[in-house]
Amino acid sequence: MHVFGLIGNPVGHSLSPPMHEAAYDELGLEARYVTFEPESADLESAIRGADALGICGLNVTIPFKRDVLEYVEPDDLAKRIGAVNTIDFGGEHPTGHNTDAAGALRALERGDADLEGARAVLVGAGGAGRAIAFALADAGAAVAIANRTESTAHDLAAAVPNATGHGLESLPDLLADADVLVNATSVGMDEDVSPVPAGALHADLVVMDAVYSPLETRLLREAADAGATTIDGAWMLLYQGVEALERWTGEAAPVEAMNDALRSTL
Ligand code: NAP
Repeated sequence: MHVFGLIGNPVGHSLSPPMHEAAYDELGLEARYVTFEPESADLESAIRGADALGICGLNVTIPFKRDVLEYVEPDDLAKRIGAVNTIDFGGEHPTGHNTDAAGALRALERGDADLEGARAVLVGAGGAGRAIAFALADAGAAVAIANRTESTAHDLAAAVPNATGHGLESLPDLLADADVLVNATSVGMDEDVSPVPAGALHADLVVMDAVYSPLETRLLREAADAGATTIDGAWMLLYQGVEALERWTGEAAPVEAMNDALRSTL
């Protein structure tokens, strides 16, 4: 029996177990995906314990994505982003990876976004925003990062190639000739509000929202009304899981089975 899982606090509402277990069923893999909720003070012993017990892989979520860097060997991308969301226990030492970045890219590709040479606007510079900023830049886009706390946008832009930092008031100007817009703030999750003025949206944009609950956020609704192509947050969630599963098992993930399982829980 292989054991994979998710470590975070809280993890009670995670959508990852059904998505991963649908993949194990499809692949005929005898495996389980379990959620773990240690106290912050116990993070190191939780990682060491998982390794000692033979757990094969862990996803990592809030509030541990940054702190866990200390207890694993992060790859270059996880180091640059400053966060790990996937631990692989398959080698001599646990290694840390960030599949949010590749997940965002694969979601954008699925929505037919062409990122090489694109002008991308990223709203938000928190954990998800950092991963998406590096992903967009590494795929060849120029990235304008707009954040409520403008200094955080400038700090992130200084670390990301071909990026600039802005306050939210710059969004209409930035979007006027942009090709791609990604929301990586939590705005739209609890209330029917959008982080972007509806009048700044247009038909030449591909718009992705990292928020996946609700699936159709106000931003995506208004983007569709403006004629833009829209990509909901479940695609990024799906593909970060696909990337983790492929790393852990070495098998091609059954993407459609995972997508069906994920969407049936949303
Ligand atoms: P985080 O690190 O706490 O960052 C939150 C971001 O939202 C910051 O940029 C923050 O700006 C901004 N923000 C919060 N409230 C705001 C408001 N009222 N107005 C404007 N900006 C506001 O959170 P995170 O981990 O990056 O997650 C952000 C969102 O992405 C969440 O909804 C999360 O569920 C989603 N997410 C989705 C996936 C996926 O796979 N689809 C993966 C990861 C995260 P300040 O810097 O000014 O505070």
